[in-house]
Amino acid sequence: MTKPSQTIAVIVAAGRGVRAGGSIAKQWRDLTGRNAVAWSLQAFQDHADIDAIVLVLHPHDLALAAGYSDIIVTKGGADRAASVLFGLQAAAALSPAKVLIHDVARPCVSAQTISNVIAALDDHQGAAPGLALSDALWQGTDGLVADIKPRDDLFRAQTPQGFHFAKILAAHQTYQGPAADDVAVARAAGMTVAIVPGDEDNLKITTPGDFARADRILRGHMDIRTGNGFDVHAFEAGDHVTLCGIEIGHEFALKGHSDADVAMHAVTDAIYGALAEGDIGQWFPPSDPRWKGAASEVFLRHAVTLARDKGFTITHADCTIICEHPKIGPHARQMRENMARIMEIDIERVSIKATTSEQLGFTGRGEGIAASATATLVKS
Ligand code: MG
Repeated sequence: MTKPSQTIAVIVAAGRGVRAGGSIAKQWRDLTGRNAVAWSLQAFQDHADIDAIVLVLHPHDLALAAGYSDIIVTKGGADRAASVLFGLQAAAALSPAKVLIHDVARPCVSAQTISNVIAALDDHQGAAPGLALSDALWQGTDGLVADIKPRDDLFRAQTPQGFHFAKILAAHQTYQGPAADDVAVARAAGMTVAIVPGDEDNLKITTPGDFARADRILRGHMDIRTGNGFDVHAFEAGDHVTLCGIEIGHEFALKGHSDADVAMHAVTDAIYGALAEGDIGQWFPPSDPRWKGAASEVFLRHAVTLARDKGFTITHADCTIICEHPKIGPHARQMRENMARIMEIDIERVSIKATTSEQLGFTGRGEGIAASATATLVKS
């Protein structure tokens, strides 16, 4: 539902620029595991004050947006100004109060910059981030400095550029000719535009060097979590143990409320740990008869689903099983396959290994099995 105070973002990604190298348009090139379109979308999707997003794509690129949900995708026009107008028209049905128009080639835009623009629109018809010039400005002629220009009132323009929606839509509808940016269109229509603080990291990627710099900045934005899990189960009378879902014949069984799969429990707790979402005991209390004899796959699947629902991808899990017997090595491959299947990741991302404790302590005396695990999750 739209509300009168709604603020939307129009992300313009219709260009075909390949100046940054390669044969595909720069906004679709790999950038720290994603592309500039995905990074720019994420910046606005993650911002609490943005209510809807319009993505303007080149007509040939519409199929590339097939995986995007919750955004309005529309095709662009012959030049940037035409593309922005199409984007604004696609948003008009929402009757937003404010719109932020962003160039997809600035994938490192920060939440603070977006907030600065939105806040300034309470007092101004337009607002855009600018960076005061710190370098001296020369006018050059034939390789020689011909003049030194005053820089005190000069700014480098960035995006997102924000406007009162109805006013900028009208301005674009009547604008003729090429425009450097949307501020130029707004000013041609008589709108006032405030300059808010920009950000040096909000660079426009144009050259291969810009890609390298954006890559360094975005790595700092990545949400990478590491969790650890540890579990112990004692032996009792029986003829097999279950480790990572694989039954292994043994002179004892492991004692527990569920199937006592100590290794799978450690990995499950590592995932909960990375998410800061408690542990198996909280999600599946031993006091609850539903989990008596349960296959621990239920617990691991729950943690995997929780990770996915919170936007995380499990990129790696490593588990060390600590016992004198049974021998783990002959079963490790099968365990990895089973864990990879449940976690829905490649087997190359699952490590299962074992150690003894040199006959020391409870594992050394053969009283039970311990397992320690680490899981790495990345927000996707
Ligand atoms: Mg356990």
